[in-house]
Amino acid sequence: MMTALKQTHARISRLDRTLITAVVLLSSVFPVELFSNTPPAPMGHDGQYSGKQGQVLVVKVKGEEQATELKGTFLSRTIPFFREFRPGEPAGYIGLLGIDMQDEPGTYELAVEVKQGEQAKQLSFNVLVAKERFAVEHLKLPKEKVDLDEKSTARWKAEQQLVQQALAENSRLKLWRSNFVEPVSGKRTGIFGSVRIMNGQARNPHNGEDIGAPMGADVVATNDGIVRITVDHIFSGKGVFIDHGLGFYTMYFHLSEVLVKDGDLVTAGQIIGKVGATGRATGPHLHWGVKLNGARVNPYSLLDLPFKNGAAPSATVATPTPVATPNSQAVPIKE
Ligand SMILES: [Zn+2]
Repeated sequence: MMTALKQTHARISRLDRTLITAVVLLSSVFPVELFSNTPPAPMGHDGQYSGKQGQVLVVKVKGEEQATELKGTFLSRTIPFFREFRPGEPAGYIGLLGIDMQDEPGTYELAVEVKQGEQAKQLSFNVLVAKERFAVEHLKLPKEKVDLDEKSTARWKAEQQLVQQALAENSRLKLWRSNFVEPVSGKRTGIFGSVRIMNGQARNPHNGEDIGAPMGADVVATNDGIVRITVDHIFSGKGVFIDHGLGFYTMYFHLSEVLVKDGDLVTAGQIIGKVGATGRATGPHLHWGVKLNGARVNPYSLLDLPFKNGAAPSATVATPTPVATPNSQAVPIKE
């Protein structure tokens, strides 16, 4: 009736990244009784997934050819599903589930509503969220960049609000295509999710990945999308937010130059700006961030997504990949 492939967690370093995907096969003979008065089935009866904080899981539902819409809910976040076609295989649906870097470890339900015209039924998956061991960084910054005065605090709040408003509007179409591109080639610092102690005070964890690259190096869009907002903000400096559709955004901060405008359509690999050190940065680098249906995930998990030739594979892929920097303390660029 159904198969779930599960990635078990070997002990791996905090900087390793593992992409965990699972494929759930549902036969097309889903019991008709589900549409009538059968009691609710127990949680997780349709399969199980697991991943670490900050990872992206690929949830695949096959055998729902007649469905008109699939929509998931995970920890109060909405997970849209999109249709996927592969030659010689039945059509299926795919949802990208982001585990936020601060989701508490534990087991949660991913409930998926399958609509077929007027009828609807629920699928239920267990998602095991495992703890990621994030780095702890001690940063020394000029006092005024850490302890904001009243005016700067007001500015920061207004900027947050502006971004929130801009991102409330998102493309209901999936704009991205199979392959994601690294926005700039450089030294990946491996500090996604790191706990930050600035001038001795605990601050918000680092919600993206920093890539060390020379001042003025080209920064490209990781995939197709629409530029939702360009900014010049107190922390992020000159930045670009790209909407890839279905609640999926990427962000590019601290640019020296922004080469796109709000509303521009961009394609994967298109130059959108230049590396800089604007905002709260101690040296030229790109801060690359991702928000996936509200979850802050490791941007490098996009490069590992198994979407070659426009489609996801029909089996689990899990490849822990070591990264260059085992010790974030040695990394000089921040924010
Ligand atoms: Zn950063």
